[in-house]
Amino acid sequence: MKTNVAELQVCSPRSIDEALQQRRDIPGLTPIAGGTEVLVWLNDAKFAGKTYQSLHGLAKDWRYVRANKDGTLGIGALATYSDVRFHPVVKERYPLLVESARVTGALQIQNRGTPVGNIANGSPAADTVPSLLVYDAKLKLKSLRGERLVDLKDFFTGYRRNVMTSDELITEIVLPPPLFMPAQQHYRKVGTREAQAISKVVFAGARSAAGVRLAWGSLAPTTIRALKTEAALQNGADANAAWEILQREIAPIDDIRSTAEYRRKVARNILFEFLNKLANTL
Ligand SMILES: Cc1cc2nc3c(=O)[nH]c(=O)nc-3n(C[C@H](O)[C@H](O)[C@H](O)COP(=O)(O)OP(=O)(O)OC[C@H]3O[C@@H](n4cnc5c(N)ncnc54)[C@H](O)[C@@H]3O)c2cc1C
Repeated sequence: MKTNVAELQVCSPRSIDEALQQRRDIPGLTPIAGGTEVLVWLNDAKFAGKTYQSLHGLAKDWRYVRANKDGTLGIGALATYSDVRFHPVVKERYPLLVESARVTGALQIQNRGTPVGNIANGSPAADTVPSLLVYDAKLKLKSLRGERLVDLKDFFTGYRRNVMTSDELITEIVLPPPLFMPAQQHYRKVGTREAQAISKVVFAGARSAAGVRLAWGSLAPTTIRALKTEAALQNGADANAAWEILQREIAPIDDIRSTAEYRRKVARNILFEFLNKLANTL
């Protein structure tokens, strides 16, 4: 059964202050950025909410990808995948993000959907989140009470749960200057087909003498960094030893897209592929 849209209340703030006031004053308000998740819920009548907040009127404030003088990069809440994917600084410095934006949905989704919506949605299969974790991304969360900066690795508290409070909005993703050269990075999405497929397993990783990052999607209730495996690799563990540890850090499940067993096999293959590819870059 479809949702009767005539029964919905949609607020369309024209300023950031108005948006934040609505967040404070209207209970149960669901923000809409690109709407590529939210409208699917409405179509399926899965989502019981009746009050929505279209952020479109804030595009002048929040649709940007900005390279800052201090070497950080800001991705505004309304920047789309296409804005990110084709940005020259992102292409030069953050190749994992370019690749994850490239394989998210198809062009229609990339022209509307936002990486911030991908994060806020909280799916463990989100394709940009592993890349952003490798880059130590932070999120700016804003409310009328003020602004705070939260590490993306601390944002998720469980399956589709996060630390955001009901009066807050994510306003920006902040990326520090990159630690890794492009050749030291690897991205892999495994789905049913090349495009328009939700990931069965998704991986972003990087390795240099300075450190190791392994971020995985669809292997646990949230996207994860495999911190123990990273530490073992940093201390010289080989691929087999790393896999022994990784197996204990992941908790894949059987669901409509795949089986836990298949996901484990794919995770092992990707780990070995990553380590082989990067063996000569240290
Ligand atoms: C055909 C199709 C293919 C898809 N393929 C993929 C894929 O390959 N990989 C993938 O990862 N996803 C995929 N998706 C899912 C979706 O496109 C992404 O998750 C997208 O990033 C959502 O962004 P959005 O701006 O459209 O979010 P919206 O639908 O607007 O919102 C998603 C969630 O984020 C919240 N939100 C949005 N902005 C903010 C904000 N500023 N502050 C706080 N909360 C906010 C909303 O309230 C909602 O809970 C697909 C969807 C469709 C329909």
